[in-house]
Formats: sequence, C-alpha cells, structure tokens
Amino acid sequence: MKKLIALVALALMTQPALADDAPKWSIAIHGGAGTLDPAQMTPERRAEYEAALQKALDAGAAVLAEGGSAMDAVKAAIMPMEDSPLFNAGKGAVFTWDGTNELDASIMDGRDRSAGAVAGVKTVKNPILLADKVRTDSEHVFLMGTGAEAFAVDKGFAVTPPDYFATEARRRSLERLKAEKLSALDVDHKFGTVGAVALDQSGNLAAGTSTGGMTGKRWGRVGDAPVIGAGTYADNRSCAVSATGWGEYFIRVGVAHEICARLRAAGAAAQQVADDVMADVASLGGDGGVILVTPEGEALFSFNTTGMYRGRATSAGVREVAIFGGEEKASSTPDH
Ligand code: ASP
Repeated sequence: MKKLIALVALALMTQPALADDAPKWSIAIHGGAGTLDPAQMTPERRAEYEAALQKALDAGAAVLAEGGSAMDAVKAAIMPMEDSPLFNAGKGAVFTWDGTNELDASIMDGRDRSAGAVAGVKTVKNPILLADKVRTDSEHVFLMGTGAEAFAVDKGFAVTPPDYFATEARRRSLERLKAEKLSALDVDHKFGTVGAVALDQSGNLAAGTSTGGMTGKRWGRVGDAPVIGAGTYADNRSCAVSATGWGEYFIRVGVAHEICARLRAAGAAAQQVADDVMADVASLGGDGGVILVTPEGEALFSFNTTGMYRGRATSAGVREVAIFGGEEKASSTPDH
C-alpha cells in the first residue's frame, strides 16, 4: 500500500503544474508585406486597414477562445480579408496581364499534415474554402484552373461572376504597369496576400494563405501562396507558417517548410529561425514576410520589407494589429 501511495505521489509530482496545463491558443494574421511608408499613408487609410485587420483577427480569435479548431480559426480569419477590397485576395485581387483576376489559395492542418490548394481560380468567392474542400473531399492536394472550378461546382460552391473580384484601383495598377513598362513590384509596392496561422486549445496547428498573385502575371504564373511548403505549412511537431512576398523566391527557398523543418530539427528559437530563413530569401534578391505560431503558443512575424499588415492575439491577452516595422507592444510569447 505504501508503495502504491509513493508511486501515485511520484506520478503527481512528475505531472506538469496545473498552470502549464491550462488551455492556450494563439493566432497571427497578415495582409501582405511591402514598401510601406508611414508618410505616404493618411490617418484615414491607416484606420481602414487597421479595422480590416482587427475584424479578421477577432473572427479567428473568437473561434479559438470558444474552443474551436485551429483550422476553423484560420478560415474565419482569412474570409473577411478575402471579402475586403483592401487586400490582394478574393475581392480586390490584382489583375493578370490579360485583365482577369486569378486566385490562388492553400490550407494545411498540422494534426495530420493534410493539405488542400487551388490555383488560377476565377469564379470562387472564397478560395480558402475551396482549398479546404480539396483537402477534405478529394484524394488530391492541388487543383488548378477550370478543373478546380468544376470541382467547386460539384461540391456545391456558388459560381461568382468574375466581375465581383475587380476593383478600379487594381485595374489602374495594371494600366500603369503596361503604360510605363513597370514590374509588378513597381506598381504594387506591397504584397497584399492574406494569411493566418493558429494554435488551438487542443494543441493543434493550422496555416492558410490566399492571394491574387502579382499584377500583370502571365502565362498561368502561380506564386508561392498555393504551394504547400512555400507559402503555407503546418506541422504540430514544429510550427505553422503563412508567407507573403515575391513568390518566386519563396518557392525557391521553400520558406514555410524550411522554417518548420529547421525548428523541428534544431529546436532553436522560432524568431531566430524565421529571421534566418527570411535572410536567405533576401540573399537571393527576394523580399516579403512570414507569420508563424509554435506549439508553445508563440505568435511571431519576420519580414525584410519596411512594413507588413499584421496582427496577433493569444489567450494570454495579446491582441494587436500593426503595419510598420517595430510597432508591436506585447511580448510574442504568451505567459501562462
Ligand atoms: N506571394 C504572392 C505571390 O507571389 C504575392 C503576395 O504575397 O502578395 O503570388
């Protein structure tokens, strides 16, 4: 009997303290990174972006606070940004060279690394939902173009008229790019892709990304956003990442997977790993940024541009949105 009591006492002592066991969640979102100059942004414009980011962050945080899944939180955060004309995803997507809007998205569940992605979709209001449908209702990971749209119809998605996605501001960017023979970077100044990463109270991670790509894209160009491992990755063993930036470089570096793989192998500090991988992107000539969450509940950003539309919230009371570099007030690590 004494032996049994001793064993029970030992077992209790080796359990983590109750406080460490407490449920925790965290979420980070982005609405693109780029050359953002505070002097160029009116207070009204800034308030508009902050409100849109806050709305997305609150939607995702509410799911997590109520005990919902990281996957649901990621979708809940991304959808309002797809619906907002301010971001380059869903409504407000950039124009292709041919004057259309072609949408890419991907999503990944860190529990089992199941993933779904779509590219070059023109008639689906919320491409992130279609990407998730590919994950849950097909035996595939990545569908493109008219095939992806046929799959959407099969699965009951409404056909959205392509005009819905078009905005005047984005059309003017395309016209300027053509008239002045500029690159996408010259006219866009910022990458307006949207993304979200989340940790839920069950300890599961998820990541999602949605974009219109880059202004003036041709020949069926697809960037990193729908490429699992480049723009999006989630693995419960390491982290969840969503990227924004010059997609070709993010594909070449395999940014999202690279960050998760380094974290898993080395157990190094997440911020350092993200900064190192972004430095690698910069060394090749690319720019942009990433958001990530870790199983420990850290919610981090790393970008090599002057700004990134971003936000984060945690169960520890962090809840903030920011645009330019170094605006965060809170520590990124929830203190339970
Ligand atoms: N990464 C996206 C792409 O290359 C662009 C963006 O982040 O806005 O398509």
